[in-house]
Amino acid sequence: MRQKIVAGNWKMNTTPMEGVELAKAVVAGSRNVDKSVNFIVAPPFTHLSEVMKVTRGTGVAVSAQNCAAEAKGAYTGEVSAAMIASLGVEYVILGHSERREYYGETSETLNKKLEQAYANNLIPIYCIGEKLEEREAGKHFDVVRSQIEEVVFNLDTDRFAKLVIAYEPVWAIGTGKTATAEQAQEIHAYIRGVLREKFGDAANDTVILYGGSCNPSNAAELFSKEDVDGGLIGGASLKADDFIAIGESY
Ligand code: PEP
Repeated sequence: MRQKIVAGNWKMNTTPMEGVELAKAVVAGSRNVDKSVNFIVAPPFTHLSEVMKVTRGTGVAVSAQNCAAEAKGAYTGEVSAAMIASLGVEYVILGHSERREYYGETSETLNKKLEQAYANNLIPIYCIGEKLEEREAGKHFDVVRSQIEEVVFNLDTDRFAKLVIAYEPVWAIGTGKTATAEQAQEIHAYIRGVLREKFGDAANDTVILYGGSCNPSNAAELFSKEDVDGGLIGGASLKADDFIAIGESY
């Protein structure tokens, strides 16, 4: 049985105080949801310490949205995986399409970031997904294959066993357009197949989340698909009621 995960990527939203209130509401709401659903919140760096105080021991886990590619030193403005892990944070989102697009993250950078995450016992939530023009040109399978081969294939089996993947079609992120449940299942199954080529049956246990305008109205259908193991939620994770309702859709 694969873990079911509903993770909320808050992106660059909320003040630290608002974030604490949101985390409190998620903790409260999560108590009424089946324990098989694992909630994760991913606030900005500035909120992590305070949000950890609210979530510790509750079953709601915390993720960072990024980490530095280097361990420490003269990298102004960067936050290391060790700093994040020292707060008790368990996960880190890596390779989100916004970071690939606006901050030039490449597979080379992401290999270094995954190395830092694992070296500090953070579980990476590695994001992959194609742009609209790539989907329209029928290249979506090739795009996700490269994003996996260039990064995930460099992991050893122990590290691979911990990895979470988020498939997020870029054309569905923040646009209100969602992949149909059939499109999601098709590509999630493809992703699992690619992982199986390298890691064999261990790929059957890999959690593959769907992301892209997932909300309380479409989550149940998406999550009903065999290879969709939950969601990485952006906009809808900023309202605790919606975020919890997505978890309840399982
Ligand atoms: C995301 O960016 O991870 C995401 C899924 O955003 P949204 O739900 O807002 O489309």
